[in-house]
Amino acid sequence: MKKKLFVLSGSSGVGKGTVISGFLKRNPSYSLSISCTTRKMRPDETEGVNYFYLTREEFEKSVQNDEFLEWAEFAQNLYGTKRAFVEKCLNNGKDLILELETIGALKVKDQMPDAVLIFIAPPSFEELEHRLRNRHTEDEETIQKRLSEVRAEIERSKKYDYVIVNDEVDRAIAELEKIIKDEASNV
Ligand code: 5GP
Repeated sequence: MKKKLFVLSGSSGVGKGTVISGFLKRNPSYSLSISCTTRKMRPDETEGVNYFYLTREEFEKSVQNDEFLEWAEFAQNLYGTKRAFVEKCLNNGKDLILELETIGALKVKDQMPDAVLIFIAPPSFEELEHRLRNRHTEDEETIQKRLSEVRAEIERSKKYDYVIVNDEVDRAIAELEKIIKDEASNV
């Protein structure tokens, strides 16, 4: 049976990773799509697990060959989802979740109107700024860039099917679980 595609987005520091990994732990039949990126690998990441790390040249070649379902530039790096990977999973009846920034997510919706777009929002912009600074992983210039992207992403989230406010992680996971279960049974 062909499956529904779920696309999750959320701004940096919103706790999106915690909500998604909490959901995946409780729902092991779902897996996260592995994207390609030109961003440098972080110390806690692994090639082929978190991302496929490509050079800009390799990435651009895949764009020219029309291999991406969607791709977008985010914080000066390119990110993309291979079309073949997603189609193979869905046709094989696999439950798949894409975690994309908002421009890519809306591109997926244009091509696959049945895809369900879910945005994980911070309780407030101030709270998000606080969380982002407390990560201590980025310098001030990067933080400023990410904050202006956050504003744009919140604006684009108005086109999403669902918005979950991550005010409390367990509650947000439960809400995500309910949305996905309801939508998955409504194919
Ligand atoms: P990070 O560099 O923190 O891993 O991810 C930065 C942003 O890129 C996040 O918002 C993440 O959701 C998004 N992202 C990851 N993979 C893809 C992808 O394949 N396509 C698009 N459009 N965004 C992606």
